Amino acid sequence: MKALVIGGGIGGVTLALCLLEAGIEVSLFERNPAIVEIGAGIQLSPNAARVLEKLNLLEDIGRIAFQPLSLDMRLGHSGTRIFSIPIRERAASQFGAPYYHVHRADLMDALLGALQQRHDKALHLNKTLVSFSQDASGVKAKFDDGTEASGDILIGADGIHSVVRSQLQGETPARFTGNIAWRLVVPASPELKKLVPPSATIWVGPGRHAVTYYLRRGELINFVGVVERDDWQKESWTEPGEVQQLRSDYAGWAKPVTTLIAEAQSCHRWALFDRNPLESWSEGRVSLLGDACHPMLPFLAQGAAMCIEDAWVLSRKLKLDGNVPDLLAAYEAERKPRTSRAQLGSRRQMGLYHQRSLFSQLTTYGPMWLAAHLTPAYINSRQDWLYGHDVTANRS
Ligand code: FAD
Repeated sequence: MKALVIGGGIGGVTLALCLLEAGIEVSLFERNPAIVEIGAGIQLSPNAARVLEKLNLLEDIGRIAFQPLSLDMRLGHSGTRIFSIPIRERAASQFGAPYYHVHRADLMDALLGALQQRHDKALHLNKTLVSFSQDASGVKAKFDDGTEASGDILIGADGIHSVVRSQLQGETPARFTGNIAWRLVVPASPELKKLVPPSATIWVGPGRHAVTYYLRRGELINFVGVVERDDWQKESWTEPGEVQQLRSDYAGWAKPVTTLIAEAQSCHRWALFDRNPLESWSEGRVSLLGDACHPMLPFLAQGAAMCIEDAWVLSRKLKLDGNVPDLLAAYEAERKPRTSRAQLGSRRQMGLYHQRSLFSQLTTYGPMWLAAHLTPAYINSRQDWLYGHDVTANRS
């Protein structure tokens, strides 16, 4: 079998590696002249780490990652801790795989290094897919330079504005959430190290929240800030932002947040759009993977983790006997309930973090604080459906 994979993001490159591991021939097509990841962090939860382990990449990634002590929620202004879920130890003892914070460029370097080592001709750069066609015998991809490629299946791992999805489904509506997100990475200066907890910390406040965590063995700190505002709506991860505006959005917040922002020389911003789960992902010999089929808001930090899980499951299905459309339908049937739950779960988290009035803060965060003190096991287990899931254990 020969697979054509469109898109060299985390999803597409991981899929290429999983397919090679399954003994399936693969050609990966990326529109850019080089694969360069944005300067930002990514949380890799145990459910994703398990797949990386199967690909023999976990040790290498572990060397350039940071393992957070806990997953915390704090009030943005006072810094008061609402709860703390001990993740470093739980990840190892309960989930059998680590929870990592990784710089996206470091993750991509590890993935691309492995791809180069395992099949140095798999990646084709400067190849923008414009359309595809299929019949009973195969599928053909057409690129903007006039070239074509043929295979038995085609997978669109071409991101949030997927061309493959558009051809399969037509335009899929996106709703602006009324939120924009700021992102930046700063060196972990001695002063910041004293202030910023070695955890993934969500700082919550009226109409906004922020997330801080360390990267690259603790040498860098990642900041993402989400603010309710509707004066700007561009869905791009690479748009520069104004540091002054970011600082004024978080004026008066706890010192770890304001000091971190004060050290930033530059920042980026993107508008947060939300989409409903798609009705279907596959048609005949063509299917989708990652943000192309289940883009999600970043509030559960699961977008890339779901791409990585998709990649493993799809490669295992394609190893089985059966005709291609049935195998792709089986992949979709296994993945869609879980990715839809993650999409909708991420949407629900947003409201939780932005309580405005003192009353709604007390009635939302008060019970969480109490539960964390009275029944910590309950708070600790709320994301077990995400982190405890093991796609590599399912051999069907
Ligand atoms: P993309 O990364 O968008 O890759 C698509 C690729 O396809 C690109 O390289 C693009 O150039 C290429 N392409 C597009 N069109 C074509 C075409 N026509 N022909 C050829 N190539 C094409 N997820 C987590 O799990 N944990 C986190 O902590 C987390 N934090 C995040 C923080 C930020 C700031 C952002 C923006 C996202 C975060 N996510 C996180 C989500 C995660 O990054 C995405 O879900 C994931 O990167 C999507 O990967 P992908 O490969 O599906 O798509």
